[in-house]
Amino acid sequence: MSKRPIETIVIVGGGTSGWMTAAGVARTLQHANIAIRLVESEEIGIVGVGEATVPHIRYFNERLGIDEADFMRKTNATFKLGIQLLNWARRGDSYIHPFGEIGRRINGVDFHHYWLRLAQNGEAFNPFEASLPAVAAEAGKFDFPKQDASIGSSYGYAYHFDATLYAPYLRAYAEARGVRRTEGKVVDVALNGETGFIETITLQNGERIAGDLFIDCSGFRGLLIEQALKTGYEDWSHWLPCDRAVAAPTESVGPPHPYTRVTAREAGWQWRIPLQHRVGNGYVYSSRFISDDQAREDLVRHLDGALMAEPRQLRFVTGKRRLSWNKNCVAVGLAGGFLEPLESTSLYLVQQAITYLLEMFPDASFDAADVDEYNRMIDLEYERVRDFLILHYHGTERDDSPLWNYTRTMAIPESLAHKMALFRDAGQVVQYRYGMFLERSWHAIYLGQRIAPQRYSPLADKLSLEETRRAVHGIRALVAREAAAMPTHAEVLARHCGSAA
Ligand SMILES: Cc1cc2nc3c(=O)[nH]c(=O)nc-3n(C[C@H](O)[C@H](O)[C@H](O)COP(=O)(O)OP(=O)(O)OC[C@H]3O[C@@H](n4cnc5c(N)ncnc54)[C@H](O)[C@@H]3O)c2cc1C
Repeated sequence: MSKRPIETIVIVGGGTSGWMTAAGVARTLQHANIAIRLVESEEIGIVGVGEATVPHIRYFNERLGIDEADFMRKTNATFKLGIQLLNWARRGDSYIHPFGEIGRRINGVDFHHYWLRLAQNGEAFNPFEASLPAVAAEAGKFDFPKQDASIGSSYGYAYHFDATLYAPYLRAYAEARGVRRTEGKVVDVALNGETGFIETITLQNGERIAGDLFIDCSGFRGLLIEQALKTGYEDWSHWLPCDRAVAAPTESVGPPHPYTRVTAREAGWQWRIPLQHRVGNGYVYSSRFISDDQAREDLVRHLDGALMAEPRQLRFVTGKRRLSWNKNCVAVGLAGGFLEPLESTSLYLVQQAITYLLEMFPDASFDAADVDEYNRMIDLEYERVRDFLILHYHGTERDDSPLWNYTRTMAIPESLAHKMALFRDAGQVVQYRYGMFLERSWHAIYLGQRIAPQRYSPLADKLSLEETRRAVHGIRALVAREAAAMPTHAEVLARHCGSAA
């Protein structure tokens, strides 16, 4: 393989991941003199669900130089402070996984150790009352985080947006920066007989497109990475048994909530995602435990507003490609893998795939060390999200239906077993630098799933009991005051992007 630079990048697929990739690559490589082509087929279409995100999406947009208000107006977006989880540990339970802290560290010790100390003294209270984003979200409030060290800076935010509008928004951005789009269906992929690298793709009209680097954004089918390169897939459905979803939009019945709601049901869970102009809904379920008809019926029965379209069914296999980067092909988005959208992580994984690719951008020799490192980082990202999702299912007390009995008692990955044992024993969270969901998110899910540590940090005993009460309840009161002083979500939407929601 020659050491010459990459001259042509071919992206196959124009869903959210295709256009996120095109926009990110065009922005970063704008002076690199690389031709970027994107091929998509309107006839095949896109998945078109996926409306909830995590705060990282803001950095993606910021790096592109996108104006937030403009983006929100054009994608009917709302703000999101976290995810409300109903019925996950026990039926009737409710908590918010906030994009921010629960309480604040006191004398360098995490808040939950003091909370546990009081709880063990018979003074339990809901720890989520000490989280500003959780309290604000439940009250329908929103404000931009402050840029200081106050409690008003203790959170971040993400968006809900219309999945069918974000890709076209980025398309305009990418085309303005030189990305050449071709409408057409890829019908053949030619590999080099010696190296097995992809040389050309052929469209239905006979056009052949050659490239140095191919990025597969073709969705679940994995046109290049799987159908052509036979990379293989790691199936994780024994840990995350949901394999189908039925999705439907409904009319809004009130001002949009600044949080995603995910309600655990008998054979899976239901999402509710508020946009400016409508609400996205869906039931993610395991076909081992419920029929498609029953799932559809359950979804429709639990909707708040009137249906705006017929429910649509989707199928998936939870897991990831054995290699995200194989030869001269990188799989991004659904072509690379899929983890159920419980914590809104798919677009985050798209974003990370693009970021690492640009950081380790190859020349046409495709050095094996770069490729291996890329695959190691992507594996790590997937595995960390996977463990976090499994925690929701495994860390439950529910025993009312076969799905929950299965997930509660199933064997879990060693990496998660270690994390849970550490928290159960001493309230500690396994620390890591790379990968989604840092300490505060793990705290939230452990506490929300009623996984209380046996002992708290001995450092929390440095304060007297009375001092502990004052400090802990002082933070709780401060959170209540700050949340009460915030404007409503609807007010901020109207002011920021002219929404009439
Ligand atoms: C039920 C469900 C709920 C989800 N919820 C969320 C969520 O809340 N948050 C989140 O972040 N993500 C969510 N996701 C994931 C999200 O939808 C996807 O990650 C995102 O839409 C990216 O999809 P994609 O672009 O990889 O694939 P697709 O949208 O499937 O796009 C594939 C593209 O490839 C093109 N293509 C395919 N074959 C060919 C061919 N032969 N020739 C030419 N073009 C071709 C298609 O035309 C299309 O343009 C959800 C997914 C599902 C299934």
